[in-house]
Amino acid sequence: MIFEGASAAVAYAVVFFFSLCVGSFLNVVIYRLPREGLAVSSPRRSFCPNCRHQLSWHENIPLFSWLLLRGRCRSCRSPISARYPLVELTAAVLAIFLLQAEGFSWRFVFYFYFVMCLTAIAFIDLEFMVIPDILVKPTVLLGLVSAAVTPYPRLTGLALWNWLEAFGWNHRLVSLAGAVVAYAVGFLSLHLASVAYKRLKGQRGLGEGDPPLMGLIALFLGLPSVIPILLLSSVLGLVSVAVLLFSGRLTSEGLGVKAIPFGPFLSLAALIWLFWGDAFLSWYLPLMTF
Ligand SMILES: [Zn+2]
Repeated sequence: MIFEGASAAVAYAVVFFFSLCVGSFLNVVIYRLPREGLAVSSPRRSFCPNCRHQLSWHENIPLFSWLLLRGRCRSCRSPISARYPLVELTAAVLAIFLLQAEGFSWRFVFYFYFVMCLTAIAFIDLEFMVIPDILVKPTVLLGLVSAAVTPYPRLTGLALWNWLEAFGWNHRLVSLAGAVVAYAVGFLSLHLASVAYKRLKGQRGLGEGDPPLMGLIALFLGLPSVIPILLLSSVLGLVSVAVLLFSGRLTSEGLGVKAIPFGPFLSLAALIWLFWGDAFLSWYLPLMTF
């Protein structure tokens, strides 16, 4: 469903504020999931990580509370990480992009979950160098359901889709098969790279969670996305390392010792490709055909 006029403004506003709240929940997930002894559902109320002061409802409004409190806890005045409003705003902006791309549809619902998962994964991996299974495995299942419920030509690539369609193949089956193959190729691409690196260098170059994450991304974005996303995430990673080196926040000695998580770059590349991949291809492919 695509909205127009005033109803569009209302729909966008509702999605924006709902997603700010989802972003607020993602902050809880990002803070609690990697820490032992904290469950996402308990304690029920959010608290200041410094003084454990329980937040009342008006200290817990996404984005606005942080702005009103000027980024400090009301009780102990210790600074509250800018990550909180950043995650909330990221969630809301991504949801708006998604609504623009898909309208209100089942695909919007499935991809909303996928996009929010990527956001949580990126921030957790950045801080803790771990990609929790609980964010990947159920989302893989959801991706398969999505492929079958809302058949998506993107999963196989349009040329293959049209070709199979000409043979009278069932859309749902083509879409589901495309998703499964994409997962396998995405997973294997990084798994094999990781095995090869370990053989050559005798140490691990990639985290354990990176191949399944690439599989998950490929499952939602389709087989043709695998190479562009691997390239884009590598470029983003290299640029970030260069920036860290130049700004002095990382030394060249530190680079050999300190591991740099790849998950945030994979996630960022996936989000860029989800929203602008098609536009890029329609600009780039005609350049290749003269
Ligand atoms: Zn406090």
